[in-house]
Amino acid sequence: MAVSLAGSPSMSNSTAAPWIVLKFGGTSVSTRARWDKIAAIARGRRTQGRQVLIVVSALSGITDQLKALGDAQADAARRAEIRDQIRARHEAMFAELELVDRAPLQYWLERLDALVANVRADAGGLPWQAEVLALGEQLSSTLGVAYLNRLDLPAHWLDARQHLLAQPMPNQNAWGRYLSASVPTAPDAAFAQGLAARGTLFITQGFMARNAAGETVILGRGGSDTSASYFGALLKAEVVEIWTDVAGMFSANPRQVPNARLLARLDYEEAQEIATTGAKVLHPRCINPVREARVPLAIRDTNFPDLAGTEIGGAVPDAARSVKAISSRAGITLIAMESIGMWQQVGFLADVFEHFKRHGLSIDLVGTSETNVTVSLDPTENLVNSDVLSTLCADLVKVCRVKVIAPCAAITLVGRGMRSLLHKLSGVLAEFGPQRVHLISQSSNNLNLTFVVDEAIAADMVPTLHALLIRAEAMRVEDRAIFGPSWRELYQSGQAEPAAPWWRARRADLMRLAREATPRYVYDLATVRARAQALKRDVACVDRWFYAIKANAHPVLLREIAALGFGLECVSPGEWERAAGIAGAALLFTPNFAPRKEYGDALVRKIPVTLDNLHPLAQWGADFSGHEIFLRLDLGTGRGHHDKVKTGGAKSKFGLALDELPEFLRLAALHDVRIAGLHAHLGSGILDVAHWKDVYVQLASIAEKIPSVHVLNIGGGLGVPARADEAPLDRVALGAALAEVKSAYPQFELWAEPGRYLVADAGVLLARVTQTKRKGEVRYVGCDAGMNSLIRPALYEAWHEIVNLARLDEAATELVQIVGPICESGDVLGSNRRLPPTGEGDVLLIAQAGAYGAAMASHYNLREPAAEVVL
Ligand code: ADP
Ligand code: ASP
Ligand code: MG
Repeated sequence: MAVSLAGSPSMSNSTAAPWIVLKFGGTSVSTRARWDKIAAIARGRRTQGRQVLIVVSALSGITDQLKALGDAQADAARRAEIRDQIRARHEAMFAELELVDRAPLQYWLERLDALVANVRADAGGLPWQAEVLALGEQLSSTLGVAYLNRLDLPAHWLDARQHLLAQPMPNQNAWGRYLSASVPTAPDAAFAQGLAARGTLFITQGFMARNAAGETVILGRGGSDTSASYFGALLKAEVVEIWTDVAGMFSANPRQVPNARLLARLDYEEAQEIATTGAKVLHPRCINPVREARVPLAIRDTNFPDLAGTEIGGAVPDAARSVKAISSRAGITLIAMESIGMWQQVGFLADVFEHFKRHGLSIDLVGTSETNVTVSLDPTENLVNSDVLSTLCADLVKVCRVKVIAPCAAITLVGRGMRSLLHKLSGVLAEFGPQRVHLISQSSNNLNLTFVVDEAIAADMVPTLHALLIRAEAMRVEDRAIFGPSWRELYQSGQAEPAAPWWRARRADLMRLAREATPRYVYDLATVRARAQALKRDVACVDRWFYAIKANAHPVLLREIAALGFGLECVSPGEWERAAGIAGAALLFTPNFAPRKEYGDALVRKIPVTLDNLHPLAQWGADFSGHEIFLRLDLGTGRGHHDKVKTGGAKSKFGLALDELPEFLRLAALHDVRIAGLHAHLGSGILDVAHWKDVYVQLASIAEKIPSVHVLNIGGGLGVPARADEAPLDRVALGAALAEVKSAYPQFELWAEPGRYLVADAGVLLARVTQTKRKGEVRYVGCDAGMNSLIRPALYEAWHEIVNLARLDEAATELVQIVGPICESGDVLGSNRRLPPTGEGDVLLIAQAGAYGAAMASHYNLREPAAEVVL
């Protein structure tokens, strides 16, 4: 669906000219600068020959204040105070817009006075509340009309209540009829013609309609979008444009997930689902009217009108099956109803649901079992307060046992054909594993999968889940038919734009190296140096740094890193032998399930040893007698980009469980072993700064009870984002967070052990294309590097950027699977990648291969893995 404005009809024939409905939200109408944008947009549409109807929201925050007037029922002084604030805000806006004629503003302000003074306020009656809430849009539209006229853009004020007639829904209670009303609409040519006869530009109010008795009713919070949609349907508009403070609908709330991707195109059903399940950018009820009238909807950013937004319409052709968005709704109440042998009881569900119906409560999700039915109530569709709940429960206890679970949040994945995407959701499901999930629901239209959890954890989970969906290729962000840039790219470029990777500038050198031999790892020492220096500079409160050499133990890299003042952390005798060759480097030995002899050998060499189990002290305590050791603790949960890199929690073999700490201390005392430091390392690929702060605080509070401890080692795991649009680890924030803890625990030395962070970006793997193949729709590009050279994609589902180095600047038009020569189906380096047309002999570059690449290589299939070269 393209929203085309080409072929403008003549302006003189105004009755035949198409209508465009433009809706501007609260922040879009709150300053003069924004009104200038509105004027420019409206003028643009006029010069394209369109008739324009503008629907406005109240100034931002005003609806909340009007609602507060209703909540201050018993407090006349508070009502007067709120009234004065509302008045002052509109007076200020009047002045800012340099308007002259006070009369229209005065009219609505007097109405505000009258309503505030009216005795009905004390009863807090619903008709009164509706009239009060409507004032916000009545005031903003009045100011807007005056300002556009001042700018010589003749605009007419239209009373929305005259044209939108609400119909009560079946079983709707009074609250819903007055404050969450609906208006049936269908294209009405007579209305369109009547309006066209009066002018070409109108401003009307969102959020309101009238009922059959002529009273004002409200369309629900955020309902101005729905007003625009109603008018769009009535006028059979060419398009309804929702202008707001973001460029469109994103794959998650961009304020929560800056990496959320713009959804360039959506069909009505998916947009409906995303809106209903929490994306506040569109009011859930605004889709249906435009869908039925087949009017396209667009979302745009008022402040950046040149940004392409979201287009919503009929089916989107050629789209890959994908999760489109993850949304969350807070304030969900669950009602769990227990009855023994429910299924045997004819009419049990009918009895139960009857009570919800009687209380005018619309149920959102339902979960059932033999003895339990649990339903959810969504606060945007219902008035769910303690009065309503207690009367509902009082009725329900007559038929079953009732439990109210609140506050909960519903986290929803949306995408057409959700059931066919289940195999890609294992990582997402695992994330819910440790949480209390109260209800899971899969919509019968196959568009969504919803998890209801405790409200407190939802906000933290959504960004992680979003990243996991992309990583698992359940959210196919490469598909440009659907996904646009990320919010961060659109709004924070410049600030967060990563520098171009080093290998772009060294392309000629890399091509030369590839001509000599492939497959080949190539390392850029300057990148290692820059990373190490930046870390020391930005996280200055770390007293000693150790490089975890398992990430990449190439001697040239080790020398470079040691020269920058890093010690070397080793996990085997092989590693300490290599590290011992690097002059001046301090060593650590942090093994796991190592044989007895290795500990003794390390102690002889005076390499500090870390224990992470009772066994060594319990069975071989005398070996450690008189020595200092470090103790690695498992703080209970693992973190990281994949299950296989999580090194905490009961399912991970690392670290001493906290419940065994007292026994460890007893054995240490028994054998005269001093615990010099505590250590924790819970996983890798972590981008969230709060993680190390948590670890540090937990270790410090444990260490306070162990007098011999003077070092806290918070491990590594510092993440390196795989994709260009992911936010890198905020080193400065990490430095600040750790410094804060340090000021509380100055008695401990702080140590840390990054590995991958220093070397991942510094290495690339060069491979040569051997053969290509097509099977049905799937195209394969084979190369001479396989999982024997780089196992991370197979082992961790790791995503490495892959480019055709010879054709870096050509358009990546072909969707391919990039595979190696190893006899394993898992020998895939990158799936569903876009490359320019690629053939035998081309050089592929696999990026970010400096860590756990060569270090994990094998001779599987008796194939030599890639050799290593340092630039
Ligand atoms: P307006 O006042 O213009 O109606 P709203 O505040 O109602 O604007 O809606 C826009 C806001 O919706 C955005 O600023 C954003 O915080 C929020 N939002 C929540 N989920 C999404 C999403 N998936 N995509 C875009 N915006 C979202
Ligand atoms: N002003 C109303 C609200 O804040 C309606 C809207 O802005 O869409 O809910
Ligand atoms: Mg809104």
